[in-house]
Amino acid sequence: LVHAVNVSKSFHHNEVLKGIDLDVDAGQVVCLLGPSGSGKTTFLRCINQLETIDGGRIWVDDDLMGYSDRDGKLYRLKDKEIAAQRREIGMVFQRFNLFPHMTALQNVIEAPVQVKGESKKAARDRAQSLLDRVGLGDRTAAYPAQLSGGQQQRVAIARALAMQPKLMLFDEPTSALDPELVGEVLSVMRELAADGMTMIVVTHEMSFAREVADTVVFMDGGVVVEAGPPADVIGNPQHQRTKTFLSRLR
Ligand code: ATP
Repeated sequence: LVHAVNVSKSFHHNEVLKGIDLDVDAGQVVCLLGPSGSGKTTFLRCINQLETIDGGRIWVDDDLMGYSDRDGKLYRLKDKEIAAQRREIGMVFQRFNLFPHMTALQNVIEAPVQVKGESKKAARDRAQSLLDRVGLGDRTAAYPAQLSGGQQQRVAIARALAMQPKLMLFDEPTSALDPELVGEVLSVMRELAADGMTMIVVTHEMSFAREVADTVVFMDGGVVVEAGPPADVIGNPQHQRTKTFLSRLR
C-alpha cells in the first residue's frame, strides 16, 4: 500500500532524510523507532505531503504523492489535488489538536461534513459508532477540556477514522500522556491493527512495537539502519547503533 523509494529531504543545509526506502503492505503495521532528530516525524509528514520531498518518490495505494508522472517527468500537483490525496490518510499527532470549542462528536463529524460534504445524519451516525469503538460512546457531548489526555487522543483517533482513510499515521501518539493513560490509547491502536488497518507508527513503546508491528524500522541520522520483524530488530539487533538505542530505552 505504501511504497517509498530513496526519499530525501533537507531543511536548508540540514539533510534530514538521506534516501529512505519503505514498503508497507495493506493491513500491515510498521513501527518507526529511532533517536530524537533521526527524521521519523519528517518522514511521516513527507508521506502525507505536509512536507515536500527533495528527491525520491512515495506511492500510497498506487497514487504518486504530490506529483503526476508523465513520460518519466514529474509535475507537481495542484494544492487541491494534494489535499485530496491527503484526505485518504489519517494522522494522529503527539498533541491531540482537537477543536477546543467543539464536543467530541462535533470534532469527529467536522471533516466528513465540511470536507467530504457528507450529510450530518450519516456523519453523526458514523461518529457515534467510532466513538463507541474507541470506548467513548458515553462522552460524545464532552468538550476536549472535560476529557483526559487519553480520552482526547482516542477522540483524535476516531476523528481521523471518520474520513475512512486507507492508511493511518501515528506520530508518538502516547508520548504526551501521563503513564497511566498510555495503555488505553495503545489498546485502541491494537484493535485497529487487528481490524486490518494499515498503520505507520512512530513510537518509543517497545512492548507495543514488539507485539503489534509486522515490521520495525530503526532510523538514525536520516537513514534506515535496520528493518525487519520485531523479533529481529528489537530482539536480536545486528547493528551497533540499534543496540545502543535499545539499551538506552531499557
Ligand atoms: P523526535 O523524536 O524528536 O520527534 P524525529 O526523529 O521525529 O525526532 P524530526 O522531527 O523528523 O526527527 O527532525 C529531524 C531533523 O529535522 C531535526 O534536526 C529537526 O531540527 C529538523 N527539522 C524538522 N522540521 C524542520 C523544519 N520545519 N524546519 C527546519 N528544520 C526542521
